[in-house]
Amino acid sequence: MALRIFNTMTGSVDELVPGGGKREHIKDYPPITIYSCGPTVYSHAHIGNFRTFVFNDFLRRYLRFRGYRVDHAMNITDVDDKTIAGAAGEGTSLKEYTERYAEIFLEDLESLNIEPVEHTPKATESIGAMVEIIDLLLKKGYAYEKEGSLYFHVGRFEGYGRLSRLDSREIKAGLRYDTDEYAKDDVRDFVLWKAPRDNEIYWDTAIGKGRPGWHIECSAMIRKIFKATIDIHTGGVDLIFPHHENEIAQSEAAYGEQFVRHWIHAEHLLVNGSKMSKSLGNFFTLRDLLAKGYSPRSIRYLLVSAHYRKQFNFTIEGIGQADQALERIDNLILRLRDIKRGGQPNVRVMKLIDSMFEDFTVAVDDDLNISRGMGIVFEFIHEMNSMIDEGLVSHEDAESVLRALKRIDAVLGFIFFPEDENKSTIDSEWIESMIAERIAARNNREYDRADSIRRALLEKGIILEDTREGTRWKTRN
Ligand SMILES: [Zn+2]
Repeated sequence: MALRIFNTMTGSVDELVPGGGKREHIKDYPPITIYSCGPTVYSHAHIGNFRTFVFNDFLRRYLRFRGYRVDHAMNITDVDDKTIAGAAGEGTSLKEYTERYAEIFLEDLESLNIEPVEHTPKATESIGAMVEIIDLLLKKGYAYEKEGSLYFHVGRFEGYGRLSRLDSREIKAGLRYDTDEYAKDDVRDFVLWKAPRDNEIYWDTAIGKGRPGWHIECSAMIRKIFKATIDIHTGGVDLIFPHHENEIAQSEAAYGEQFVRHWIHAEHLLVNGSKMSKSLGNFFTLRDLLAKGYSPRSIRYLLVSAHYRKQFNFTIEGIGQADQALERIDNLILRLRDIKRGGQPNVRVMKLIDSMFEDFTVAVDDDLNISRGMGIVFEFIHEMNSMIDEGLVSHEDAESVLRALKRIDAVLGFIFFPEDENKSTIDSEWIESMIAERIAARNNREYDRADSIRRALLEKGIILEDTREGTRWKTRN
């Protein structure tokens, strides 16, 4: 059984082969190197952006669930026309302006329970790497200078358009080319390094004064972090052309080796059936939705549940349905936690857990079909509820089911386990101070007070053990 994912470059559902060579066991593979195009931090990211970021998160979680290790980078674009214009409009420095939006972005990721990735390079901190690749392109004849700016000569790079399947006629017709205001020889060419203009920020480097074009950032950061061909590059479908096409051209021209093995693109998100736009009134940032009282768990549920290669229609009714689905999971967890009945493990429960994992893996291995995978989890929830109704589930079984749900949640990231709440809200310092109070109470022969402290801790899931060495504590579960 192998994990197969659609590869935009080949146009087929291909087996994922990290490192480019097959190994006998998953654990023998090197960590999967992944790069995801990150945000431009000039305003709040909208819900369409978060579809892609939630997808990236689901992908890395699933790879780990399957036993792979991951090494994942996502850039933060903190210098471009929009960030410069935004900072100028406010009269603040570019750094101050972009740091604020970068922080907001990272907070939004946290709200959606998106795991931090291993590397989050900022463009302004990677100028050296960009200069290095542009310098190589100049030396190899793939770049030229015009009016102080440096451009990539698309005509020199064979294979331009392979990813997007656009032939040069279509690109030349001007329907879809990179719109920037700078002069260039060929409409297909794109800017690598922009000459300083007016009072805009610039860097004084070996290739001249200026600032980077957007496309070069990703190529440079990938080289800086991973040094060689990477396994997976992700992004929204809107980035296929020209951004990813240009990344390939720059990197392969400069380094003469394959840039990326597996290209994975997430489809668009629609809101109420239309493309999001401020004029249609269907433009939502994550914060707009949270301010209206919608829960980030439900939003994550909704964004995870849609297959990444299908356009997804985001609606308020959809959030309501997500709420209901989450309530079904929450209710099962509460029921499981209430089961006190002893007795031997029920073989049927063990079998259900095993087949849930097996079916889930088969479903998601097939081009990340999470919609089918979640269907399997809900079938399992239904069966477990029936078995609890029939009194067939012991305390030990319930514990096994809870552990299974936790393992699945390592992929889904939206199941709520009440004891986690206790762990995260109780700090050990507070527990230690309660223990000290209890000891003082006992020394003063205030046994009722000592007992009530013990009970208060127990209600929070903290169990005290009095030993000869002193009082220890542990969490229930
Ligand atoms: Zn990129």
